[in-house]
Amino acid sequence: MERTLLLNSTYEPLLVITWRKAIVLMCLEKVETLAHYERRVRSTSMALNVPAVVRLFKRVRYRPSTVRFNRTNIYTRDKYTCQYCGTVESRGELTYDHVVPRSRGGKTSWTNIVTCCKPCNRRKGNRTPAEARMKLLRPPVKPDWLPVLGSTLITSEPPEAWKPFLW
Ligand SMILES: [Zn+2]
Repeated sequence: MERTLLLNSTYEPLLVITWRKAIVLMCLEKVETLAHYERRVRSTSMALNVPAVVRLFKRVRYRPSTVRFNRTNIYTRDKYTCQYCGTVESRGELTYDHVVPRSRGGKTSWTNIVTCCKPCNRRKGNRTPAEARMKLLRPPVKPDWLPVLGSTLITSEPPEAWKPFLW
């Protein structure tokens, strides 16, 4: 079943919804369609293309709740990218690294944990980035929010029609 990307009025991606839900929002005149799929659907009163990307007319305010600290959210924050060599990997090929090793008092926290590929993790070992001469792509931060689309978009190819609207 086709999925529809819902954008805020400001064009930020908000959610992935079913196309049926998107059509309901269209009928309620809450959204405009920015892109659609080839497939047409028919109801008693109309025929239309399945919407691929819709945009809300009215801005909805995000209430970012605290982002939970866990492995998936670390990977999502780092876009499944090793923070040392820049390789994008699937979940199974990734691990996480304590920037300051635990043996040196490094904490298990947003600001000391980064996504890391296994070879970089082995290479770095029990050293700081400076000692290992491995530079971080960017310093790790605690995110205020994560894209709702999260890992689903990063680990599976989004539909062509969405691409102009993503990041
Ligand atoms: Zn790496």
